[in-house]
Amino acid sequence: MQEQGTSALFPTYGRYPITLVKGEGSRLWDDAGKEYIDLMSGIAVTNLGHAPQAVKEALIEQLNQVWHVSNLFHIPNQEKLASLLTANSCADAVFFCSTGAEANEAAIKIARRYHQKVLNNGRYEIITFNMSFHGRTLATLTATGQDKVKEGFLPLPEGFVYAEYNDIESVRALINDKTAAVMLEFVQGEGGVLPADPTFVKQLAELCKQEGILLIGDEIQTGMGRTGKLFAYEHYGVEPDIFTLAKGLGGGFPIGAMLGKGFLKDAFSAGSHGSTFGGTPIATAAAFAATDAIISGKYPERALELGEYTVKKLESKLAGNPLVANVRGIGLLIGIACTQPAGEIISEIHKQGVLVIPAGPNVIRLVPALTIPLEDLDRALDVVCDVLAQKAAAASSI
Ligand SMILES: *Cc1c(COP(=O)(O)O)cnc(C)c1O
Repeated sequence: MQEQGTSALFPTYGRYPITLVKGEGSRLWDDAGKEYIDLMSGIAVTNLGHAPQAVKEALIEQLNQVWHVSNLFHIPNQEKLASLLTANSCADAVFFCSTGAEANEAAIKIARRYHQKVLNNGRYEIITFNMSFHGRTLATLTATGQDKVKEGFLPLPEGFVYAEYNDIESVRALINDKTAAVMLEFVQGEGGVLPADPTFVKQLAELCKQEGILLIGDEIQTGMGRTGKLFAYEHYGVEPDIFTLAKGLGGGFPIGAMLGKGFLKDAFSAGSHGSTFGGTPIATAAAFAATDAIISGKYPERALELGEYTVKKLESKLAGNPLVANVRGIGLLIGIACTQPAGEIISEIHKQGVLVIPAGPNVIRLVPALTIPLEDLDRALDVVCDVLAQKAAAASSI
């Protein structure tokens, strides 16, 4: 393990004292050979588990062909992946990039450009939500409704205002003749695993339509089957004009995407946006294999069933535990909200061989692979509940 203070890396992460060196399915091993059950999937990235066969084979095949060509040439894997994504979503067109923040940048840019170049109305303002998370670039950290990511990075770009999540009147109050789009997560992931209220989402979609405002869904954490549908908007009976993907899209290989309705094609033209690494042959080979495996393996359906099972099991095993306020979530994006900061509890769960992560200070977030074997899930949930029981007993004996 790396000793503190000796690293040549910028200290941008609070790292756990664990060095993971091998992964297969829902198991990970550290450099001392200790085995872990993975309930975090690299934060909703390895939705098919570690080193899934289909993605591995597609990568190896592409590695033997060509790794990188410029977007100044046609890239068949991009076309294939875009067709698969649009055939299985409400979108008609895709722009590929490499990360979530870049996908949201593309969403912000196309929303502004559609209003400014197609409708010629000069609109630019984006309404986002308190406690949201949209990324770490200057525009996306400004879009993020949490002050902690903005400290020391002034001045921030203009054109972002913040409404209360699940409060339609707070959105209505912010709309003016500059409003271009509303951007939301259907489940706030980093903000504490908070699903949007169905009535709120319906009202929001209607309001956007009435006012000529684009609805952007940030599906970077919720997409790719995570919530029990391929995309979380499907739970709500609405269709965003634009939505973004990254995390789970490449099965562990970095790739992001901004997807939109056909009418938005007019907003971009050759040269108006781009990325050197956007949709390379390798990245799109991995993402095609991952997306195809998620759809053909019916993993969204499995996530829905396992998610219901997990919430029920947690609710029954954690009933009466004074450290637990509630269990919430949708599909396999689940939060155990604690009555106090959860950092120590999470560290103890790690020591017991199960990997979980926080979402905000008080929430333990469970994000297992959609492929996790039931026995692994059961064993890991028992560990989580046992640690919470031990911590509650220790607290009451003081
Ligand atoms: C992780 C995440 C992002 C940022 O993705 P990066 O790949 O880290 O840039 C944006 N939005 C949501 C909802 C996320 O969960």
